[in-house]
Amino acid sequence: MRVVIIGSGPAGITVAERLRRYRKDVDIILLAAEPGPPYAPPAMADYFLTGRTQMLFWKDRDICERLGIDLQSGVAVSMVRPATRVVETESGVAIPYDRLVIASGSNLYAPIEGCDLEEVYNFKSLTAASALVARVRQGHVHQAVIVGAGFIGVEVALLLRELGLSVTLLEMADRIMPKMLDTETADIVRASLDARGIHVRLETKVSAFAGNGQVARVELEKESVPGNVFVAATGLKPNVAFLRDSGIDVGWGIQVDNRLRTNVSDIYGGGEFR
Ligand SMILES: Cc1cc2nc3c(=O)[nH]c(=O)nc-3n(C[C@H](O)[C@H](O)[C@H](O)COP(=O)(O)OP(=O)(O)OC[C@H]3O[C@@H](n4cnc5c(N)ncnc54)[C@H](O)[C@@H]3O)c2cc1C
Repeated sequence: MRVVIIGSGPAGITVAERLRRYRKDVDIILLAAEPGPPYAPPAMADYFLTGRTQMLFWKDRDICERLGIDLQSGVAVSMVRPATRVVETESGVAIPYDRLVIASGSNLYAPIEGCDLEEVYNFKSLTAASALVARVRQGHVHQAVIVGAGFIGVEVALLLRELGLSVTLLEMADRIMPKMLDTETADIVRASLDARGIHVRLETKVSAFAGNGQVARVELEKESVPGNVFVAATGLKPNVAFLRDSGIDVGWGIQVDNRLRTNVSDIYGGGEFR
C-alpha cells in the first residue's frame, strides 16, 4: 500500500507521522513544493530574530528519515488523475498512489493591483519570508509598508521593527486583527504596537502597489504612502489550483465530509484548505 501526501506543512507531516505510528508496512511519500525539511510557520519570526531552529523544525530535521517517510522536497504537484491513481509533478513525473492525502495548505490572497510584482513580499512560507528578510538584511531599505493587520501582518510588523526598519501598518478595518480580536483587545495590541514605534493606520484601504518599474508606494483613496519594502498580508487562499480537472470537488477550498474524505474515493483532504 502506498500513501502519497501532498504538502509537508503541519497537516501533511502530522498525517505522515500518525500513519507511520499505526502502520509500519505502508510506503509513505511526502511531496513538498518547498525545499528543506518540514517546518512550523508560526516559528518563522522567532527564527529570523534569534537564529534558533528548534521551534522552526519542530519535528526535528530528520523526522522523515527516522520514520521511513520518503520526503521529496522541491517537488510541486501540478495534476491529480484519479482515474489512473497518479499525481503528476511540475517536472512531469507521474507518481502512483493507493491513497492520496491533499494537505497543500494556503497561500497569500491579495486582491490588490500590483500585488504580484516581484518587490511585493509576503510572509506565508519560509521561502517567501526568507526572501523578505534577505532583502532587509541587504541594507538600503529603511521604510516598510505592510498591508493588512491580521495576525501575520502584525507579526511581520514586529519583526521588521526589530530588524531596525520604520514600519507603517495599514488596515482597512477599524481595528487590529479584526477577525480575531474584539475592539477592547485590539486596542491593547494597538497600544503595544504604538509603544514599539510601529505606525498603524486603520480604516485605510490600499488599492494598488505602484511605482515606475519598481514598487515605491501604495495607493490609497486620496493619497499614497511611500516606502522601499512592501509586504502584502491581506489574507489566505487555499492551494487548490492544481486540482482543476481532477474531478475533486473544489469551491474556495477542497470540500470534505466529517471524516475528511473528498468526493473521490481514496482521496482525503486535511489542514488549512478551506
Ligand atoms: C507567520 C505565521 C504565523 C502563524 N502563527 C500561528 C499561530 O501562532 N498559531 C496557529 O495556530 N497558527 C499560526 N499560523 C497558521 C499556521 O501556520 C497554519 O494554520 C498551518 O501552517 C496550516 O498547515 P497546513 O499544513 O494545512 O498548510 P501549510 O502550512 O500552508 O502547508 C502546506 C504545504 O503544502 C505545500 N504545497 C502547496 N501546494 C503544493 C503542491 N501542489 N505540491 C506540493 N506541495 C504543495 C506548500 O508549499 C506548503 O509547504 C501562522 C502562520 C504564519 C504564516
